[in-house]
Amino acid sequence: MNKKNTLKVFLFFVLFFPLPIYLTLFPHKHQFGLLTLFYLVNLILVFFILRRASNAINKIKRKIGDEEEKSNILSGQNSKEIKTQSSLKEKISRYASLKKIIEDLNSSLSTDVVAQHLVETAFAMIAGSQGTCVLYLIDSQTNSLRLYKTRKEEKSVVIKAKQGDIFDYWVLRHASPLLIEDTAKDFRFDLDKVKTEDFREVQSLISAPLLSGNNFLGVLRLDENRSNVYSQEDLRFLVTICDLGAVALENSLLYQNTQELAIHDGLTGLFTKGHFLELLKIEIKSSIRHKRPISMLMLDIDFFKNYNDKFGHMAGDLVLKALSASLAEVIKERLGIVCRFGGEEFCVLLPGQNKPAAMETAELLRSSIANINVLLRRQKTKVTVSIGVATLSSDIADEKELIMIADKAMYAAKASGRNCVVGAK
Ligand code: GH3
Ligand code: MG
Ligand code: MG
Repeated sequence: MNKKNTLKVFLFFVLFFPLPIYLTLFPHKHQFGLLTLFYLVNLILVFFILRRASNAINKIKRKIGDEEEKSNILSGQNSKEIKTQSSLKEKISRYASLKKIIEDLNSSLSTDVVAQHLVETAFAMIAGSQGTCVLYLIDSQTNSLRLYKTRKEEKSVVIKAKQGDIFDYWVLRHASPLLIEDTAKDFRFDLDKVKTEDFREVQSLISAPLLSGNNFLGVLRLDENRSNVYSQEDLRFLVTICDLGAVALENSLLYQNTQELAIHDGLTGLFTKGHFLELLKIEIKSSIRHKRPISMLMLDIDFFKNYNDKFGHMAGDLVLKALSASLAEVIKERLGIVCRFGGEEFCVLLPGQNKPAAMETAELLRSSIANINVLLRRQKTKVTVSIGVATLSSDIADEKELIMIADKAMYAAKASGRNCVVGAK
C-alpha cells in the first residue's frame, strides 16, 4: 500500500468510523438516514474485501496447482533419470567385466571348459541366474544342432529338444540374433503347429548364433516362461558374449582336431604309431607288474603295391580302409589295441593274451581279412595279410625288442608264402 492510499484509509477511519459515536453525542434530524448510509457503506466495504480475498485465495490455489503439476513432471523425469542411470550402471558393469570374460573364455583349449564358461557367463550376467540357458553346437557330420551344455534355475526342467526347436532353427537359418518378448504374440512362429512332445513352454527368449567368420558353430539361448523378460540391451550383450565365445570355441575345436590327428590316423581312423608306442609302454609295465601275459601281432598286406599299380592310389586307400575296419571290429571284442604302424603295416597289442591265445586271434584276423571283398572299379577284389606273433617273456628287454621280434616273425610269414600266421620262436 502506498502513502496516498494509507492516508485515505486513515482519513476514512478517523472521519467515517466514529460516525455512530458523533450521532449519539450530537443527535441529528437525519440520524436514521445517516446511520443507514453508514451501515450500507460498511456492507459494500465488507463485500469488496471478501471478493478481493476470494480472488486472492483462487489465485493462490491456481499457483499451488501449477506448482504441483510442475513437481509431478519433475518427479516423473527424475524417476526416468534414475532408471536410465541404473541401466547405465548395469551396462557399465557388464562391459567392465568383458576383460574377465575374455580371459575366462581363453583360459582353456578344452571345448568343454569354454562351453561351460560361455553358459555360466550368459546365465549369470544376462539372465540374473533365472530361467534356462542352453548351448547347442553344430554337429559337423550331420550339420544339425546338438545340445551341448545347459544351466537351469529349476533343476527339474528337462531339455527334450536335443537338436533344438523352431526358435533355435530360426537362428540357425537366419544366422542372426533373435528376441521374443512373448512367444504367444510373435507372428513369426506358429506355436500350434509345433507343440510336440519335445516342446518346452517358454514365453520370453533371446538367442544368438556363434559365428566365427563364415563358420556357424552353434546357438546360445536364454529363455523363461514369463513374458517381457529380456531387453534389446540384453540381446546386444548376448551377441557380444557369443562373438567372443565363438573365437574361443573355434580355437578349442581346432586344437581338439589337431589332438585327434595326433592320436588317430587320418585315413583309417586307427591309432597312430606315436600314440600306440606310448600305450605300448604303459601296457607292458602294467603286464609285468600284474604278472599278466601280453602279445603283439605285426600285420603286412600281401602284394599291396599291386593294388596301387593296377587300380591307382585311391583304390589302394580303399583297401587300407576296408581292412582297418575289419581289423578294428575283430580286435574290439578281444580288448586289443590296433594301430597303423606304417604305410600298409598294422600292429595289434593283445594285453592278457599268451602265445596260444594270440596265435588264435591272429588266425581269426587273417581269415576274416581274407574273406573281405573290396570293390575296386566294380571288381570284387581279395586282400590277404601276413602276420607275425610275439609274446612278452623274461628274455625280452623292452617294447622295441618285442616289436622287432614280431616284425621278424611277419617276414618269416612272407617267406613261407604269405597269407599266413607265424609265431616267433
Ligand atoms: P609284400 O607282400 O612283400 O608286402 O609286397 P608289397 O607290395 O605289399 O610291399 P611293398 O612294401 O613293396 O609295397 C608297399 C606299398 O604300399 C608301397 C607304397 O606305395 C604303398 N603305400 C604305402 N602307404 C600307402 C597309402 O597310404 N596309400 C596307398 N594307396 N599306398 C600306400
Ligand atoms: Mg610293408
Ligand atoms: Mg606289403
